[in-house]
Amino acid sequence: MCKNLYGEIYAKLEEIAGSSFIKKDESMDIHTTFKTGGKASIFVEISNCKQLKETIEIIKQYGLPYFILGNGSNVLVRDEGYKGLIIKLADGFGENVKDDEKNDEKNVAGNKITEQNDSLVICAYGQEKLGAVAREVSKRGYTGMETLAGIPGTIGGAVAMNAGAYGTEIKDVIESVVVMNNNGDIMVLSKDELDLSYRHSRVQTDGLIVLKAVFKLQRGERSLIDEKLKSCQEARKQKQPLEYPSAGSTFKRPEGHFAGKLIQDAGLRGYQVGGAQVSEKHCGFVINKNHATASDIVQVINDVRDKVFEQFGVMLEPEVKIL
Ligand SMILES: Cc1cc2nc3c(=O)[nH]c(=O)nc-3n(C[C@H](O)[C@H](O)[C@H](O)COP(=O)(O)OP(=O)(O)OC[C@H]3O[C@@H](n4cnc5c(N)ncnc54)[C@H](O)[C@@H]3O)c2cc1C
Repeated sequence: MCKNLYGEIYAKLEEIAGSSFIKKDESMDIHTTFKTGGKASIFVEISNCKQLKETIEIIKQYGLPYFILGNGSNVLVRDEGYKGLIIKLADGFGENVKDDEKNDEKNVAGNKITEQNDSLVICAYGQEKLGAVAREVSKRGYTGMETLAGIPGTIGGAVAMNAGAYGTEIKDVIESVVVMNNNGDIMVLSKDELDLSYRHSRVQTDGLIVLKAVFKLQRGERSLIDEKLKSCQEARKQKQPLEYPSAGSTFKRPEGHFAGKLIQDAGLRGYQVGGAQVSEKHCGFVINKNHATASDIVQVINDVRDKVFEQFGVMLEPEVKIL
C-alpha cells in the first residue's frame, strides 16, 4: 500500500478515534511483553462500538490488513514492522456510553457484578486485565479464577486464546461473550458457540473482536481461595523467568509431550541467538535476555523447532503470534 493511501486512511481514522488515540509508525516494543519488534504503520485505540464499526468499514473499503491487540503478551512483531493497522480497545471502552451511541452499545454496556445465592456473574470488557478480574472475584469469595490470576493478558486475549493455567481454562468459567464480527455486527455468543479448546477459539478462526465477556463463579472457602492464589503466584515466580521479557510459553503443548521437556532433552537449555535465549530457568520460554531483536527471537524459535523435530520427530507449534 502506498504512502499516500496510508495518509488518507490515517486522516479518516483520526476523525473517527480522535487525534490523541492514533499514531503513525508506532514502535511495538512498548505494546508487547517481549519488549522488542518493529513498527506498526498505524496504531489506533478505539473507545466505543460506534468507532469500532466505522473503523471496520474503513478496513473493508481499503482492504487494509489489521490485527487486534490485547496486552501484547502473546505477540511478536517482526523487525520489518507490521504494514497495516493495529487496533487496541482503549481504557474505558464500553463505559461512559453517550446517548447517540446507545443503540450500538446496547449489548455491551451493562451491570458489572451480580451476586445471587451462591454464585456471582461478572461482566468484563475486552480491554480489562484478566488478572484484575480474577483477583476481584477471588476477593469476594468466589472460586474458579484463582489459577488464571497470573496470566498477563486482557479479557479479549484470554478468550481468543482460551488461556489457561494449572488445570483451569477460560472455558471452565465463561458463560458468554459479546463480539463484533468483520461486518461490524454485534453478536452474543454462548460458551458452546465459542468452540473453545486448547489455545483455540472461534474468536481467532472467525476474526471476531471480543467486546465483553461474562463469567460465572461459585462461592468458595475464602482461605482455600487465598491459598490457591498464593501457591500459583509462588509457582510462577519459582519456575518461570519472570525477570525477563517474554511471551510466556513460546510453544503449544504437543499432544503426549511437554514442549519444555523436549527442548531441554534436545540440549537446548540456554541456547542463544543474539539477545534471545531459551530460558535456563524454564526451557518452554524464549526470553529477551539482552536487547534481542524480533529476528533473534524468531531464529531461536525456528532453531528449537528444527532441532526438536530432528531428535524426536515432534513438530512444535508456536503459541506466540508472529506478525
Ligand atoms: C510471563 C507470561 C506468562 C504467561 N502465562 C500464561 C499462562 O499461564 N497461560 C496462558 O494461557 N497464557 C500465558 N501467557 C500468554 C498470554 O498472556 C495469554 O495468551 C493471554 O491470554 C494473551 O492476552 P493478551 O491480551 O496479551 O493478547 P495479545 O497477546 O495481545 O493477543 C493474543 C491473541 O488474542 C487476540 N486478541 C487480543 N484481544 C482481542 C480482542 N479484544 N478480541 C479478539 N481477539 C483479541 C489477538 O488478536 C491475538 O490473536 C503468558 C505470557 C507471559 C508474558
